[in-house]
Amino acid sequence: MTVLTRDEMLRRLPAVSLLLNTEPLASEAAGKAQAEVTAACRQAIDEVRAEILRGAEPGSEELLDVGAIAVRAARILAERSRPHLRRVINATGVVLHTNLGRSLLAGVAVANMAAVAESYSNLELDLATGERGSRYSHVEDLLIRLTGAEAALVVNNNAAAVLLCLTALARGREVIVSRGQLVEIGGAFRVPEVMEQGGARLVEVGTTNKTHLDDYARAISENTALLLRVHTSNYRIIGFTAAVPLADLVRLAHERGLPVMDDLGSGVLIDLERYGLPGEPTVQASVAAGADIVTFSGDKLLGGPQAGIIVGRRELIERIRRHQLNRALRIDKLTLAALEATLRLYLDEKSAVAQIPTLAMLTASADGLRERAAALARSLRAHLGEAASVETAAGHSAAGGGALPGVELATTLVVIRPARVSVEALEEALRRRATPILARIQDDALLLDVRTLRDGEEGEIVRALRETLAGRQN
Ligand SMILES: *Cc1c(COP(=O)(O)O)cnc(C)c1O
Repeated sequence: MTVLTRDEMLRRLPAVSLLLNTEPLASEAAGKAQAEVTAACRQAIDEVRAEILRGAEPGSEELLDVGAIAVRAARILAERSRPHLRRVINATGVVLHTNLGRSLLAGVAVANMAAVAESYSNLELDLATGERGSRYSHVEDLLIRLTGAEAALVVNNNAAAVLLCLTALARGREVIVSRGQLVEIGGAFRVPEVMEQGGARLVEVGTTNKTHLDDYARAISENTALLLRVHTSNYRIIGFTAAVPLADLVRLAHERGLPVMDDLGSGVLIDLERYGLPGEPTVQASVAAGADIVTFSGDKLLGGPQAGIIVGRRELIERIRRHQLNRALRIDKLTLAALEATLRLYLDEKSAVAQIPTLAMLTASADGLRERAAALARSLRAHLGEAASVETAAGHSAAGGGALPGVELATTLVVIRPARVSVEALEEALRRRATPILARIQDDALLLDVRTLRDGEEGEIVRALRETLAGRQN
């Protein structure tokens, strides 16, 4: 090994052109934009230069090895070429993980979306008449059939749905809401602030834990536009509490000639209690109780694409549809394609539960999860040897996404304790892979929950852990 001065080393840094013809960069560069390849070479050379400048003299010539710098440049190029938004493996057991994209789409929804994306479509064309049609027509009849409402409209997300409804129906007037329902949903959606945005004046009634029908009755004035109920979808008030049943609120409002709006948040179309889950109010129940407008998300318990769904009385839906703001909150064609296919699955509840990943994961059987976890643990033990201890343990998954708060879904966890690295280092290494794997850490162990894994992801997890812990590439 030759010993060189710092200046000599800097002078001997390879030129970009030399790296371009060196493996593995040459192969990695095939088919990639020249500017990206050059940028990756420059970055690799800059990194080495910085290391030389940081290092003590005399430096080692190894740092200048063209092959090693080409490896570095190839790695940088691979990272730069990878989509920034990409698939991850969710081993957290949080089904509606907002940071990981909430709902996964059913296969038919993905297929319908791809078909509409690649070709022209009848987005706003009535094929029967050849005249201009409505983009909402593709899902409105389905929503009417599934919920029992008179009419429906869809927008970008449920926050947009609430904002649009309040703006169209209550601007400059008063909206009465219980103090127990002034909720904040993740991402700074606060009911009071959305009302202010919509130009409606908030009239709070009752107390945090108790609101009675009489509180609403006394607050109604000639300035009242509507009574609002917000489903406290992401928390529960327990203990000494009272909330007014929706049907009672509707009776009062209708006596006074006012509409009731019900913001359900995580709207469900099936009775989850039939699958051993706690009951969440269904959209159908709100419509049947007489709510004039019901709003809910497309990508919470419904298991579809991000969307805000509004169902209710035809005359009110028409007013909302015609409002200027609707144009700004408009739903796009890919979302519509995915939403239509998802809603079609609900025409047969069995298909919905089997094919919509969110529902399939939430209703997965305890036995099935135990077997899946045991199989994963066996495979990990076989491949990791002494590098880690692997066990299974009873644990809990969460619905997430502000749905089913406080509900713990029984699951079986795979519990991994690495022998030679810290559990934090292992978690980070898995998270930083080309296909990141997200897991939980608890009591100095890495926990993998099989509930949120897609078919075949166990194999990827085993390979990743083997590469990380047992130091073998294949
Ligand atoms: C989640 C939620 C919202 C916001 O819905 P997004 O689809 O996330 O915009 C509004 N209201 C309630 C009650 C919610 O639970």
